[in-house]
Amino acid sequence: MKRRGDKDNIPAVEKLYKKNQQDYSASGGFGAKDDVYEERRNRATTSYQQRQHRAFNAVPKPDDCTECGDFLGESELWDRYNFAVCSVCNDKEGRHKLITRTEAKDRFLLKDCDFDLRKPPLRFISKKNPHNPRYGDMKLYLLPQLEARAIEVHGSLESIEELKELKTSRRDAMNEKRFERKIKAMRTEMKSACAPKALPKVTHTHVYGPEEFDAESDQYKKNCTECDHVTYYDKM
Ligand SMILES: [Zn+2]
Ligand SMILES: [Zn+2]
Repeated sequence: MKRRGDKDNIPAVEKLYKKNQQDYSASGGFGAKDDVYEERRNRATTSYQQRQHRAFNAVPKPDDCTECGDFLGESELWDRYNFAVCSVCNDKEGRHKLITRTEAKDRFLLKDCDFDLRKPPLRFISKKNPHNPRYGDMKLYLLPQLEARAIEVHGSLESIEELKELKTSRRDAMNEKRFERKIKAMRTEMKSACAPKALPKVTHTHVYGPEEFDAESDQYKKNCTECDHVTYYDKM
């Protein structure tokens, strides 16, 4: 069921996502100037997610665990992530590890829209940031759901690794270019520091010597007595 306001909020969220998110090889990690957008995105996604949570909670709970096939029963993974795995199978430090949104972006090259706009939106739980409460809440996602989403976006986990390599080599190439430019600039600076200052060019009125006939050009010529200038001319 659609609530009033959905229509207005979702495109705004979408617009925010599209800002500075042009290509996957450039995704993951944010510069300082993205903080404002990140902040606005956070607020927008939180209210959006609250609405989503109601939808998640309305999904009927399956009877069985998808891993062992036994009765699902009380399941933290179901309650928090709609992931039908029982408490016995729940492998908190391994297969069902929780990963922060920031780490997931880097690890799986996901963009904000891949978390929130692709259907179904990925469910998360919020935790206070242990390093600094001022950073805002950490969003924790479930590893197998992230992997499934990443495969949906990139085709396979292998292609993510290829993209990452491309990203690294592109960054290396950029650094190399920057380094070469710097070296070149330094060399130019050194050269001009060592080179004798070019004498300022003084223009003057040429003072011509005697007229001569130049057989080579079949013209007459006159040399300036004060500089290297030679003037050639025909005579009728
Ligand atoms: Zn189980
Ligand atoms: Zn001259």
